[in-house]
Amino acid sequence: PTEQRLLGHTNPITLPSGRTVEVRANIASLVEAERTRAVGADGVGLFRTEMLLEQAGRLLSIAEQEEIYRDVLRKSSGPVIFRTFDIGADKPLAFLDMPSEPNPALGTRGMRLYRTHPTLFQDQLTALYRASEVAPMSIMFPMVTTTEDWDFCRDQAKRVASTVSSSPANDVSLGVMIEVPSLGFLVPELALHGAHFASLGTNDLSQYFFATDRESDASFHSGLALLRFIHAIAASARDVQLPLGVCGGLAADVPWAILFAAMGIYSLSVPLPSVQPIKAALSRHQEYEKLVAQAIQGAHDYARIMDLLKQEGP
Ligand code: PEP
Ligand code: MG
Repeated sequence: PTEQRLLGHTNPITLPSGRTVEVRANIASLVEAERTRAVGADGVGLFRTEMLLEQAGRLLSIAEQEEIYRDVLRKSSGPVIFRTFDIGADKPLAFLDMPSEPNPALGTRGMRLYRTHPTLFQDQLTALYRASEVAPMSIMFPMVTTTEDWDFCRDQAKRVASTVSSSPANDVSLGVMIEVPSLGFLVPELALHGAHFASLGTNDLSQYFFATDRESDASFHSGLALLRFIHAIAASARDVQLPLGVCGGLAADVPWAILFAAMGIYSLSVPLPSVQPIKAALSRHQEYEKLVAQAIQGAHDYARIMDLLKQEGP
């Protein structure tokens, strides 16, 4: 699996160094998939599939899911990353029987639920692999915390892939969200254990990094400590050649988008209305690539870097 295989972008930004950065869309429905072309997105970097269940108000059969996934692949402007169901905490599903826990954000959510609800996961994987006949696609797992979590998800996916009749005509890349801080220290293991790519989920990564509710105080969701942490994750991803993207809210924040580009992130995924503004900002700020890279390597003066990046305005 190479970065090349994941790209296939329609119109990525080329930086002065020659590296390209694609800007994809975060979506949650077929209607939004249909809008990716109009906004000029380089594909879909995050399809929040659990929203399909929320919209339906019930679980969807394998056939129902397969039809939607096929349509999403047909309608999207480029390659699609499907994030498997991320249920629990800020994304509860009233109709699903879930454990009642004192701290749901620290409890059974994301892939943790797949251990207690194996059919939910296997059915979704079956629908995804069947739909992969339409186009090459990627599957990404939420809330992976340990290497064992990753192995569990990967093994389930491989097992389902081998049972889907008429072996899938197209490649399916398997990746992982880095949104629990512990996983940020396991990038070499992820590469070694067969992850094809990873994507930083900065909403949850910030929440668990700063011990601050993602639903409340936004002022705690970035800062010097996070910059250093993400810079280290990006460096270890480069070391092991694991393609690293960003699909959390910080990808749509202009100064941070420029920082990510300077760190070697190959793909940003943002809400539909942010695709063009982020593309425009990355094109305008190209002259900052070297400067910012040096600033990040050096003193890590967060306030100074932010001032520099904000001077030109979004
Ligand atoms: C994230 O956590 O940053 C993310 C992109 O996923 P979600 O917001 O759906 O939890
Ligand atoms: Mg998340």
